[in-house]
Amino acid sequence: MGYDREREVAVEAVREAARLCVDVRKSLVGAMEKEDRSPVTVADFGSQALVCRRLKSVFPEDPIVAEEDASVLRDAEQAAMRKTVCGFVRTYAQADEGTICDWIDAGNGDVAERFWTLDPIDGTKGFLRGDQYAVALALVDCGEVKVAALACPALPVDMDQVDGDCGVLFVAVRGEGTQSMSLEGGDGVDVRIDDPAWRFAESVEPSHCDFDAQQAVARAVGIVSPSLRMDSQVKYGAVARGDAVLYLRLPSPDSPGYRENIWDHAAGALIVEEAGGEVSDMFGRPLDFSSAAQMEDNRGVVVSAREIHARVIDALRDM
Ligand code: AMP
Ligand code: MG
Repeated sequence: MGYDREREVAVEAVREAARLCVDVRKSLVGAMEKEDRSPVTVADFGSQALVCRRLKSVFPEDPIVAEEDASVLRDAEQAAMRKTVCGFVRTYAQADEGTICDWIDAGNGDVAERFWTLDPIDGTKGFLRGDQYAVALALVDCGEVKVAALACPALPVDMDQVDGDCGVLFVAVRGEGTQSMSLEGGDGVDVRIDDPAWRFAESVEPSHCDFDAQQAVARAVGIVSPSLRMDSQVKYGAVARGDAVLYLRLPSPDSPGYRENIWDHAAGALIVEEAGGEVSDMFGRPLDFSSAAQMEDNRGVVVSAREIHARVIDALRDM
């Protein structure tokens, strides 16, 4: 069975949601206090509303497992926030407040034989800081990620020209490869890992990973260059197009019980695999996207060009 329609709808959905995120960042971030998280909340809700609306209109039977829900937004005290969210959403789709909240709540679905998983803004800290973030959408069917769309509004089109054009959309269908295109639109180009930069990618946030262990593992496989630090699943896009040969995400010693969410990895994982890379947890086990919203039986994430993956897992075992 092909996934042409799913691919097309996923691309349209994340592209529109990413535009809303850009709108919010332009008009709210900076206008608010540094510690105020409301811009990211507005963009999270708005992005989720737009993506769920589109998915439900074309695939009404498919559950959506997304990060947010509208219960807080529906509170009487949240009228101002609700109005702001709906104002941004209405640039793209007309509806009353109740309907927009219903769109957001369409993301409350459960894992099933076939379902979508969505992170409306992955890398919320990067979004607020003015750095990287992504809108990440994946279709899981029969136990595997089959379609992935990852919009990266702040990613330079060319990493050698960081002040050049930004805004990249990655899309992958299992068995059909990965493409990237401008977030603005236009034709896609094939993305294959080919002669990747000999450095590794990691998170910006110290509380999300273990920088010391990551550096030690990178050194053990011969990587000595400074790491490429980026928020969100943009790191998967970076590996897919060869900006880094490896992305390491080892559990933070401060949160040993943390389990990764499927929406934080499903889209990125297919984009790297279809570009010729390999993705597993730190023990070399496949990531389990089809059992629950959290990956109970996985620890950490290792994403790399195929030729070094086994060496990285060996290095982790020896540590
Ligand atoms: P990154 O930008 O790569 O650090 O990833 C952002 C994601 O990290 C967010 O979407 C969170 O869901 C996730 N996150 C939050 N706390 C932790 C943690 N203790 N360990 C790993 N990931 C986390
Ligand atoms: Mg996230």
